[in-house]
Amino acid sequence: MKNIAVIGAGTMGNGIAHTFAQSGFKVNLIDISQEALDKAIATISKNLDRMVAKEKISEADKNGTLDNLTTFTDMNAGVADVQLVVEAATENVDLKLKIFKSMDEATGDDVILATNTSSISITQIAAVTSRPDKVIGMHFMNPVPIMKLVEIIRGYSTSDEVTSTIMELSKKLGKTPTEVNDYPGFVANRILMPMINEAIITLHEGVAGVSEIDTVMKLGMAHPMGPLQLADFIGLDVCLSILNVMYEGFGNPKYAPCPLLVNMVTAGKMGVKSGEGFYSWGHGTKDLIVSDQFQ
Ligand code: NAD
Repeated sequence: MKNIAVIGAGTMGNGIAHTFAQSGFKVNLIDISQEALDKAIATISKNLDRMVAKEKISEADKNGTLDNLTTFTDMNAGVADVQLVVEAATENVDLKLKIFKSMDEATGDDVILATNTSSISITQIAAVTSRPDKVIGMHFMNPVPIMKLVEIIRGYSTSDEVTSTIMELSKKLGKTPTEVNDYPGFVANRILMPMINEAIITLHEGVAGVSEIDTVMKLGMAHPMGPLQLADFIGLDVCLSILNVMYEGFGNPKYAPCPLLVNMVTAGKMGVKSGEGFYSWGHGTKDLIVSDQFQ
């Protein structure tokens, strides 16, 4: 495998493209937005500069990585002549089904189609293609160039051969691939999201405040950040949507999102990206300041 395409040049797409390009793959980065593509290349370039400054890579490695990247706004042109497509477009089921249908038509029968979805069923995505055995989840973590894990998700029909190809490929990227089956939340979010939800329920019931809950989990469990801070980073709307996928997918009330989380999302408090969640963001300091709502 030498040539790959990445669909979607946002937060995850630019990290995935960076990682493949730095490992010597020729990468076609595709987005409907030229602005997103320009921003992605600028971000990759800035991240490579930081690695050069830290002497982790040479100037030549940086230039080689950038040379391996080509951008496209035309998906059909971008997926021509690749052996693998990794889709990292916006998390929306109808959009992903549309993209996979088009990719299925635009690529040769032996091309593997992977998705970086956090919560959509791989089996459902595979079902709209004529090659469900060659559709697989490659769930990278943010920030992609730094995080070692890739959760490799086998859909109901994914073949052993495709799974082992993608496992080996992930190792070539310097990652640690971990194979899991396709059930709501996979493994990462099935365990993480109930923990975040429980932290929000604990806050909602007045058991402890925002700082106290995060301090217990940080210092008591050696987590690098508390669950409420992490929820602010992930985006409260994203947490709510993944919990709803698990709640509906399993039909089990233990996954029901806390009403406080629902209220916050409805009120537009999404965490870091909206400037406020459990903490207040965008005040220009590195200090963690609990949102006025929870003082
Ligand atoms: P994002 O909003 O930063 O980027 C999505 C990009 O997709 C945008 O640039 C948008 O223009 C592009 N796009 C939309 N429709 C498109 C189309 N038809 N063709 C090509 N490009 C299109 O989103 P993100 O955070 O990078 O998430 C992307 C995927 O990765 C989602 O499936 C998400 O669930 C998953 N994911 C996200 C994270 C995370 O921490 N952000 C972690 C793991 C997985």
